Amino acid sequence: MLELEHVTKRFGGLPAVEDLSVSVRTGEVLGVIGPNGAGKSTAISLIGGALAPTAGTVRFQGRDITRLAPHQRAQLGIARTFQITQPFTQLDIRENVIVGALFGGHARSRAQAAQRADAVLERVGLARKARLAGDELTVADRKRLEMARALAIHPQLLLLDEVMAGLTPREVGEAVELIREINQSGVTVLVIEHVMRAITGVSDRILVLHHGRKIAEDAPDAVLADPKVIEAYLGERYARQRAAEQARRAAETASGAPKPPAPDDTWKEGLA
Ligand code: ADP
Ligand code: MG
Repeated sequence: MLELEHVTKRFGGLPAVEDLSVSVRTGEVLGVIGPNGAGKSTAISLIGGALAPTAGTVRFQGRDITRLAPHQRAQLGIARTFQITQPFTQLDIRENVIVGALFGGHARSRAQAAQRADAVLERVGLARKARLAGDELTVADRKRLEMARALAIHPQLLLLDEVMAGLTPREVGEAVELIREINQSGVTVLVIEHVMRAITGVSDRILVLHHGRKIAEDAPDAVLADPKVIEAYLGERYARQRAAEQARRAAETASGAPKPPAPDDTWKEGLA
């Protein structure tokens, strides 16, 4: 559905994304992980159109979209959320989403945009807060608003930049469930996330970035077991925890005891 071909983005000579080639397949959830500064948000901006690459090509459904503006990509069905949420604080939640619906050019009238907005607010669990102002929301609700604004354009490809950051474990669970539902309704999803359990649970494949380069792209289990990934990203402590956990499970399986739930390893714990 989407291909990055040898994409590089430099800021003042320093590469944020370097020679990145990756495909997002129709219908999948592709997770993206990597340490802070790895180039994850830059990659989303290159796909959404907020940034143009220094070199390389971005293709969507076979078409070269490298130089298209964000609203043109939105019309083609590409929607994104922002890591730093930026609602229009003068508008209420519903109006924020209506703007989102109009941005993609899919709504033919304001009434249709409003209808679409009400449907997505219901879907992300914000219907009751529709009249609050953009700056009156909690962290979790701001993330929901970001999702609603992106969904309002009827995307075929949804790009999510850390929509679970700052959420409680319960809210993370709800967000994971919502992403699954959206994906099952036919939307292809690219999701950047630090919460390891969430990303491994929701992704069909995971792409790992390090210093702007791809160091792994595989099924979640394979990525988590990849020595390059463990070294670059997850840290030695995580590697030790994982080895201990595997040994414990192996011992329990041998003794017939039930499997314990997976630990809630977050990215930061992995690095600590
Ligand atoms: P991530 O999302 O993986 O944490 P980013 O894509 O935000 O990483 O950043 C990758 C690198 O590019 C970082 O070194 C960051 O400082 C730099 N960078 C990102 N955006 C800009 C920008 N607009 N101008 C200059 N440097 C930037
Ligand atoms: Mg980022």
